[in-house]
Amino acid sequence: MMNTPEHITVHAASGRLSLTWNSGHTQWIDNATLRARCPCSTCRRLTHSGQAARIEPCVAIVDVQPMGYGVQIVFSDGHAQGIYPWDYLAGIA
Ligand SMILES: [Zn+2]
Repeated sequence: MMNTPEHITVHAASGRLSLTWNSGHTQWIDNATLRARCPCSTCRRLTHSGQAARIEPCVAIVDVQPMGYGVQIVFSDGHAQGIYPWDYLAGIA
C-alpha cells in the first residue's frame, strides 16, 4: 500500500511542514531542509555539480499544492518548481 499522508500542515510559528501519514506517524520537516532537497531538475543538476544554491535559513513555505502523487511546494524565495512525491518526503529525515 502506498504511504500517503492524511494531513499536511505548515506550522505557522516554526514554518515547518508536518505530515501525518496513514500509518498514524507524524513527521516534521524543516522548511530550509525541504528547500535544500528540492527534487526539481534545476536543483538536482546544481546539487550534482556541487553548486547547490545557497538556501536562506529563513526561507518559508508559502503554499502547498496537492499533486496526487505528492505536493508542489512554493517557497518564499520564489522557487516553486519542486514536486515532492510522498515516498521522497517520507525519506527526508
Ligand atoms: Zn528546485
